[in-house]
Amino acid sequence: MPRCPVCDAPVVLDANPAAPFCGERCRLVDLGRWLDEAYAVPDRRRAEDDEDEAAGDPPGDDEPR
Ligand SMILES: [Zn+2]
Repeated sequence: MPRCPVCDAPVVLDANPAAPFCGERCRLVDLGRWLDEAYAVPDRRRAEDDEDEAAGDPPGDDEPR
């Protein structure tokens, strides 16, 4: 029998709309964790992109007038 990835409880897959989780609550818990990461990653990437741009392309130096 598979186990719920959130609470490690045995999961009955037959007629279980929340599979592979044991229930709707654990499904939402996992979704919440996933979204947390999804939000955290672009934030970090954007900060790195800003640094890259500032380093490789100094602003205002060769700006056409
Ligand atoms: Zn569970």
